[in-house]
Amino acid sequence: MSRSDPLEPYLASVRQQGIFLRNPLPPGPGICRVCFTGIRPDYSRCYQCNQHRQAGANAADLVVPVSYAIQNEQHAFNLVMYKSSRPTASAKAALTALILVFLRKHRICLSTAIAPAQFTHYAVVPSTRARPGTHPLQALIDGSMTLPPINARANDCYPADDRDFHPDRFVVEDLPPEANILLLDDTWTTGARVQSLSHALKDAGANKVAAVVLGRWVNPSWPDSQALISHLRRSTTFDLSRCVVGRPA
Ligand SMILES: [Zn+2]
Ligand SMILES: [Zn+2]
Repeated sequence: MSRSDPLEPYLASVRQQGIFLRNPLPPGPGICRVCFTGIRPDYSRCYQCNQHRQAGANAADLVVPVSYAIQNEQHAFNLVMYKSSRPTASAKAALTALILVFLRKHRICLSTAIAPAQFTHYAVVPSTRARPGTHPLQALIDGSMTLPPINARANDCYPADDRDFHPDRFVVEDLPPEANILLLDDTWTTGARVQSLSHALKDAGANKVAAVVLGRWVNPSWPDSQALISHLRRSTTFDLSRCVVGRPA
């Protein structure tokens, strides 16, 4: 990045966050092939990703967590704080830096992964809670995206805390034909919201959907998290030039 690069101020923040960010582990024994959470070694998908598959979800072609978000660690704290009723400036600044630098560094490998398609639009998974105004993640990236947005809204017949995949959980507005969507969300817990919106986008005619999430939530008290967490605690420093698509930036 050049000296005049508008992302330059964010790089120092991302370097500082490296002490608590954790690169997703490659899919393989013990890691879900869709969402990269810890699973029993004889499975290939976690329970939730398997549920989405069995429910017939027209799922995202690609799920790209930037980092694990281990409950009670700083990244998880930032992901909760930035959209709380009293968001901290430091959480917002950290996540703005992380999403913008990640998207810049991995723009080419994300595009290559959906090739020969190219991204035509981006979308932010809408809030399922009654939250006035702009979605907090949208607010972080406003003015920084070069793709036009696609708007979607939550179907209010489902309660905000519904954790299941539903093909009609979201309503997509005005999707041009053959759109290829870069779908952004802050936190992947069950993945139901991302996969419900992926399904709605494809139902509305989207060609490809690639989801980037800032944090793949890890609950240390889940038995399947134990091996993952002990591996992460032994592993090397966070490297933002790595992503799950596998192509170094
Ligand atoms: Zn999974
Ligand atoms: Zn990459």
